[in-house]
Amino acid sequence: TYVVTEACIKCKYMDCVEVCPVDCFYEGENMLVIHPDECIDCGVCEPECPPEAIIPDSEQTAEAWLEVNRDYADKW
Ligand code: SF4
Repeated sequence: TYVVTEACIKCKYMDCVEVCPVDCFYEGENMLVIHPDECIDCGVCEPECPPEAIIPDSEQTAEAWLEVNRDYADKW
């Protein structure tokens, strides 16, 4: 799965949401998040994110953010 990280906070771009084929972006408190169970790992959103906030969960810094993404996405 891909994970939205801190660079997304207060970002106003929604390019990622538009390209996601499965609509798995959700609104968190001050950032967008990806629902880890719905993301199909296509990677299309990664280059579309202007602040480069989207990273694969295989990256070390993604670990803590994965929980944040799941928590916010589960509220919907
Ligand atoms: Fe959506 Fe693909 Fe990005 Fe996952 S990797 S959030 S499915 S665009």
